[in-house]
Amino acid sequence: MDGILIVMSGFSGAGKGTLLHRLLDDYEDFAFSVSMTTRAPREGEVDGRDYFFVDKEKFEETIRNGGLYEHAQYCGNYYGTPKAYVDEQLKKGKSVILDIEVQGAMQIKEKFPDTLMVFVTPPSIAVLRKRLEGRGTETAEVINKRIDRAKEEVNWMDKYEYIIINDDLDTAVKEMHDIILAQRYQTKRLGTFIDEIKTELKNI
Ligand code: 5GP
Repeated sequence: MDGILIVMSGFSGAGKGTLLHRLLDDYEDFAFSVSMTTRAPREGEVDGRDYFFVDKEKFEETIRNGGLYEHAQYCGNYYGTPKAYVDEQLKKGKSVILDIEVQGAMQIKEKFPDTLMVFVTPPSIAVLRKRLEGRGTETAEVINKRIDRAKEEVNWMDKYEYIIINDDLDTAVKEMHDIILAQRYQTKRLGTFIDEIKTELKNI
């Protein structure tokens, strides 16, 4: 069965990263699309695993050479999805998950209308604020910036096909997996299988 393309966007602090890692740990048939970015690596991030970290020149050269499926600027840095890795994984039958913000997500949906579009949100903005404050790593200014960003991103929420309300992590992981499974068994994605059955019947 062919893998599918999955876009996951969400408010900063919605727990998208944790959800994604759990999904990749628990299920073998998913691959994470490693993005290219000009932002500096954070502590613990590994080049080629979390991101391909490049400078602005290299990023712009990749855009010119048509090496990205989408790209966007976010907080002053470039982010983009390299084509080669996505193609390679899909060919292997893996479902590829793109963790990208809303502008890039819309570019992907336009290029690949069959993309499964999922938006991850906490149960409320009060919970979002509490989570951000609870981390104890963000200043009040950064927290307010993230909330401001949510005010913009909320306008794109209804462009997504599914909303995951990340209240309890285990439940959210299961729901996400169920949604992906259901999507994979859609008739429109099983054309090859249907053709095989037809051929078998013809040859009886
Ligand atoms: P961060 O710098 O916190 O890792 O990511 C910032 C934002 O950029 C997140 O919303 C993340 O989903 C988004 N992002 C990461 N990679 C890509 C990408 O390849 N393309 C786009 N458009 N956004 C991305």
